[in-house]
Amino acid sequence: MGQGPSTSALQQCIQGVANNRANFAAFAGSPLYQIQWVKPYNLDVPVEPAAVVRPETAQDISDIIKCANANGVKVQAKSGGHSYQNYGAGGSDGAVAIDMVNFQKFSMDTKTWYATIGAGNRLGEVDKKMHAQGGRAMAHGVCPGVGLGGHATIGGLGPMSRMWGSALDHIVEVEVVTADGKIQRASATQNEDLFWALRGSASGFGVITEFVVRTHPEPANVVQYEYTIKLGKQADVAPLYSKWQALMADPKLDRRFGSMFIMFPLGAIITGTFYGTQEEFLTTGIPNALPQDGNGHLVINDWLGGLAHDAEKEALYLSGLAMPFVSRSLAFKRQDLLGPEKIKDIFNWVDTQKKGTLLWFIIFDAAGGAIEDIPQNATAFAHRDKVMYYQSYGIGLPVTKTTKDFITGFHDQVVQKAGPGTWGTYPGYVNNALVDQQKQYWDSNLPALEQIKARWDPKDLFHNPGSVRPVKN
Ligand SMILES: Cc1cc2nc3c(=O)[nH]c(=O)nc-3n(C[C@H](O)[C@H](O)[C@H](O)COP(=O)(O)OP(=O)(O)OC[C@H]3O[C@@H](n4cnc5c(N)ncnc54)[C@H](O)[C@@H]3O)c2cc1C
Repeated sequence: MGQGPSTSALQQCIQGVANNRANFAAFAGSPLYQIQWVKPYNLDVPVEPAAVVRPETAQDISDIIKCANANGVKVQAKSGGHSYQNYGAGGSDGAVAIDMVNFQKFSMDTKTWYATIGAGNRLGEVDKKMHAQGGRAMAHGVCPGVGLGGHATIGGLGPMSRMWGSALDHIVEVEVVTADGKIQRASATQNEDLFWALRGSASGFGVITEFVVRTHPEPANVVQYEYTIKLGKQADVAPLYSKWQALMADPKLDRRFGSMFIMFPLGAIITGTFYGTQEEFLTTGIPNALPQDGNGHLVINDWLGGLAHDAEKEALYLSGLAMPFVSRSLAFKRQDLLGPEKIKDIFNWVDTQKKGTLLWFIIFDAAGGAIEDIPQNATAFAHRDKVMYYQSYGIGLPVTKTTKDFITGFHDQVVQKAGPGTWGTYPGYVNNALVDQQKQYWDSNLPALEQIKARWDPKDLFHNPGSVRPVKN
């Protein structure tokens, strides 16, 4: 166990839970604390938890929560550690981070095809285990290093989401440790209000130890489209974006197709994933709406090959490795999407700006489809009506003011051009610069969340800078 400079009451309590187990906990001030224990993802966001603990059982988590409660310290679970603002480490100094690395359980019920998955599994592991145990699959994002614990509790959007919904739409039941230290089950029939909140806002409500999720047979065929254009000027790319946006916002678009548009310093990339055969893809008519010149090509894959291809492409612009970066995001309803003239103005603006880095990306990510089928108030996830997200990244060693100004300026341009609206953003793409973050993340679901928070965690034990606060009575 790591040793801090002094033995605080919190430390003593956690050491009591550890009961001489090695590698159970480390405390602020321990040697190699940041590198071996905290492991922040965004190196531009310094954060020092009071302790990082690696429990082995739900009972350990319960005991650690009691230690944090007794010492007035905040708590955050950490599963894959891929929060843009290091929320798994607390997001601000002094929290207890509960690292779920030992929660790697996986089993498949071959009658119901429900999988039971430990919260510490990362998405790449989930895919491999589901494939091995019956050729099953669920919807989620593209980065294999993201943790199921932080992903399926906030949303979980990926190329198959237009077809199957978000990752959290697959959750049937969870085991969760709540602020009073109790180990509970939550589902549509047990602790229903908590279950509702955990699907979209779990960081403020408990530590999930395992998920029970419904699964689908994995599609046998995957067609991947990729188009790269290196014009060097974003203004020249704007018409391409407008055309792509019109395709992706069409309510009748075949749900087996998911796609992203990525601006990068040399031009743009369009990636698309279609779950079906090449013949089926051709009959959808989608290829006719995508750029046809020699810059595009198709790759034919099976399910696992398709996932690996998406992950590899993503790693070109957004690595699973820790780095310093600044990022912003915003979500658009169909009626708020920018028209061609405004798109041209924004892309022109990008050309005129100093970036301060060669590593910047602006990703437009299409949603809609099956995500839209579910009512806005069915879970805490509040972006059912959003058909497009933008996310920006400016990476630097360190991130300079010029880069920060560019990323902020881009956001301001979009907001200004879009005019007054209620876009909000997906809390999985943390945008800590938003005014009234919680309202922007949970929108019309926020008042109910604040009530449920007051019931289950009135002292706001589970806390990060963007999490739900209890309603004040
Ligand atoms: C490289 C990269 C690619 C990404 N791609 C996508 C994508 O394609 N689609 C998408 O939707 N999102 C994507 N994201 C965003 C990602 O889904 C969120 O950042 C997610 O919250 C990360 O989960 P984590 O477990 O890895 O992170 P952590 O930092 O461990 O946790 C993030 C938050 O979730 C909470 N949490 C974690 N585990 C639990 C648990 N067991 N119980 C309760 N709360 C918990 C933490 O307390 C913290 O507040 C991406 C992020 C990165 C860095």
